[in-house]
Amino acid sequence: MVPMSSNATAAGLCNFVDVSPSPFHVCRTVSVQLEEVGFVRVEETEAWPTEPGKYYLIRGGSLVAWSTHADGPFRIVGGHTDSPNLRVKQNPDLESAGWQMVGLEPYGGAWLNSWLDRDLGISGRLSVRDGNSLREVLVKVDEPILRVPQLAIHLSEDRKGVTLDPQRHVNAIWGVGNSPRSFVDYVAALEGVEPTDVLGWELMTHDLAPSAIVGVGSELVSAPRLDNQGTCYAGTQALIAAVAAPTDVTPVLALFDHEEVGSMSDRGAFSDLLNTVLERIVLGRGGGREEFLRTMAGSICASGDMAHATHPNYPDRHEPAHRIELGGGPVLKVNQNLRYATDSAGAGAFALACDQAGVPLQRYVHRADLPCGSTIGPITASRTGLSTVDVGAAQLAMHSSRELMGASDITAYADALAAFLAPAA
Ligand code: ZN
Repeated sequence: MVPMSSNATAAGLCNFVDVSPSPFHVCRTVSVQLEEVGFVRVEETEAWPTEPGKYYLIRGGSLVAWSTHADGPFRIVGGHTDSPNLRVKQNPDLESAGWQMVGLEPYGGAWLNSWLDRDLGISGRLSVRDGNSLREVLVKVDEPILRVPQLAIHLSEDRKGVTLDPQRHVNAIWGVGNSPRSFVDYVAALEGVEPTDVLGWELMTHDLAPSAIVGVGSELVSAPRLDNQGTCYAGTQALIAAVAAPTDVTPVLALFDHEEVGSMSDRGAFSDLLNTVLERIVLGRGGGREEFLRTMAGSICASGDMAHATHPNYPDRHEPAHRIELGGGPVLKVNQNLRYATDSAGAGAFALACDQAGVPLQRYVHRADLPCGSTIGPITASRTGLSTVDVGAAQLAMHSSRELMGASDITAYADALAAFLAPAA
């Protein structure tokens, strides 16, 4: 058997991450890669095409893509487009001790210490008045505008560092002096928008240091947002590989916003997004509700999110019989209390995909005496009734503004996902 292989590379991941500072940019980057191989965008407000083809839709910061060249059960790869960061408040213009400040607020479980002393750019989107309606303007400012400085060690108690308060300690400096500036007006002007026409915004910060392949043997990828753009990139490459060698299943890629804050939104994994798309795929090919339910019963989802590699400086924080290595291949995540959705059938399906892709598989279990994180797997399983398996690629420093993963793992992960999306008969 020829292993299913993707075109995923560590350099490709670095490029993907660097042009995708916000969930909205992740969707745009994925859509550009999909359109290059013939995917066509559909709008939820329009009638969908009935002829077989490759399609995708975007709802806010979420994207779903699929191919209808076969009418078999769904094979779904899930992931999330958002990453923890510092986001701009609604009245962000502050002044403190002669400094001009921008009020920021943590999004998700940002590891606050990692955001200090970094040159920060700005991204997100604006809702702009257009006559009597609104239009969306994407924002990406890759200039070092903002900075959250640490306290000098000499000013900390006992020189032991400080506990960071999310209200007081993560506001950014962007200038000096007493003449007030409007941050939102500044962003509007950069985007060529009349400031008074900006009626709403979701703006966030990103570290400007470019992603890099590092380590003495170039075996590592150092980048922001690997959780979970590692899956967004690998999943996109996997879908592209799967549609190039179609089987009798219907491959789907579902990338959700808002995982880091609990997934409860119009476009998060708790929403109707995936159910709606899957039903419309069946309706579009002439099936009815009965066929949709039958198709769902035979379908399976691999929920992709990053996994914890065993940390060399903190090996005691890890389950000793489940060492996870960078470069050791994709990771299957199992939790007896269903923080991960994996059951034995799902584990078997993913292990088979790894086997067919010719890549090794690592099995992750969290220490029983530490609270385990979760992801979209259990949410997707309970919202759709789909058999679901939680998988990922190994990394260190999860939720830091700068994370680390294995260079070879991105290819192995994408290859495994491609085999999962196009299972050998
Ligand atoms: Zn994640």
